[in-house]
Amino acid sequence: MAHDETKRFNAIVVGAGPGGSSCATFLSKTGVNVLLLDKEFFPRDKICGDGISARSLDILRELGVLEKIESIPLRKISGFTFSSPDGTLVDIPIPKRGGNIRHGYAIRRLLLDNLLFQNAKEHSIKTMEGFTVTGLIKDSHSSRVVGVEGTMSDGQKKTFYADVIVGADGVNSIVARETGARHGDIAHLGVSLRCYYRGVGDMKGNLELHFLDKLIPGYFWILPMANGFANVGIGIVMAEMRAKKINLKNELFRTIENNPVLKDRFKDSTVVPGTLKGGTIPFGSKRWKAYGNGWLLVGDAASLVNPFTGEGIENALYSGRLVAAVISEAYLKKDYSESQFSSYEHALKKELDPILQNSYQMQKRSRSGFLLNLFMHKAARNQKVRDLMASTLTDVNSRQIYSSLFIYLRMVLTPPYW
Ligand SMILES: Cc1cc2nc3c(=O)[nH]c(=O)nc-3n(C[C@H](O)[C@H](O)[C@H](O)COP(=O)(O)OP(=O)(O)OC[C@H]3O[C@@H](n4cnc5c(N)ncnc54)[C@H](O)[C@@H]3O)c2cc1C
Repeated sequence: MAHDETKRFNAIVVGAGPGGSSCATFLSKTGVNVLLLDKEFFPRDKICGDGISARSLDILRELGVLEKIESIPLRKISGFTFSSPDGTLVDIPIPKRGGNIRHGYAIRRLLLDNLLFQNAKEHSIKTMEGFTVTGLIKDSHSSRVVGVEGTMSDGQKKTFYADVIVGADGVNSIVARETGARHGDIAHLGVSLRCYYRGVGDMKGNLELHFLDKLIPGYFWILPMANGFANVGIGIVMAEMRAKKINLKNELFRTIENNPVLKDRFKDSTVVPGTLKGGTIPFGSKRWKAYGNGWLLVGDAASLVNPFTGEGIENALYSGRLVAAVISEAYLKKDYSESQFSSYEHALKKELDPILQNSYQMQKRSRSGFLLNLFMHKAARNQKVRDLMASTLTDVNSRQIYSSLFIYLRMVLTPPYW
């Protein structure tokens, strides 16, 4: 194959979503020469629930982009609303930190990702849009990953070389596939459908997760957006969907029309045509290997989505920062080997696994409709249980209250119940 251009960088980041743009921006601050590639042209949309967690805001501030984000249409999200299969509602505000009220945002990915990408560009990073990576180039002796090959939107083929390739190319990551990292364990993958509505009633400014008997541990969600819109969707563990032969689209509209907790809120609403779209979600309950000889993975490409809430932007941003630190250390040592990059695994274990594993325990405890009903009854009336839920959802260092079935049952089954 004839390639018309060859270029060398310290690092190539494949994919300019939140993970890739954050990684490239943090890398640029360390003097590393970066190429950030994406197959799309920005602004581009990404199928998403559009919820940005409170923890994400810390890192958006560090990236220097939070003020810009706050100047575009968004909606402040102050907490979570849950409902159990029997319709018990529980509100959980995002807990304060250091006495300060915290919140998240609802913002369209078309806008958020574009701001992150433009911010990366402003950090003297070389960027290339409309370039689809089609394969990795490996050194024939060491089998180290040394570059990428791909195609421009006009069909031109190009190759680029670097000391390290970062796969930030989302759930279907070619970097994860070609390095053999990705697993296909459907018990740890999710499937979601989302669409936009106008005129949904009684929205309180919370991310709403409504657990339905047929979907658990999955749920139906509503996220209030700017200008009277709502992001509405449905998500389920892929293994459950296949085992129960669920048609997600039917389930979404059946819920809107018939669910006793929800149907009245949709009676004056209209769906925004053409917005019903779906995607796969790689849960961090069983991450795959995210590093090797000459390569690293971030965000969805590394399977880092919260297995309880389905949120993945936060960990995409955080893993982008972790990988930038790992590469800048490797750059100083001129060592891009698998053993050098194993420090990334240690960092993931320390920084992200506690919240991922805690959330996985929450997901597991939500598989029984009977227990979920009991739990929500208790949470609805007991501030301590609500506080525990809040810290598990938002605090990396929260106690592992869901890890033992025994402790969970004791919490659910001991008085006071009501
Ligand atoms: C229906 C649904 C709802 C969700 N709701 C939420 C939510 O409310 N909140 C939340 O936090 N998370 C949510 N998520 C998860 C969230 O969307 C992802 O976790 C997040 O986008 C991961 O960011 P990323 O940067 O790793 O990957 P992505 O955002 O997927 O970005 C990957 C980038 O790589 C590019 N790319 C892909 N392949 C190539 C290639 N071969 N060559 C070049 N470029 C390539 C793509 O164009 C894209 O720009 C949801 C997901 C789905 C499917």
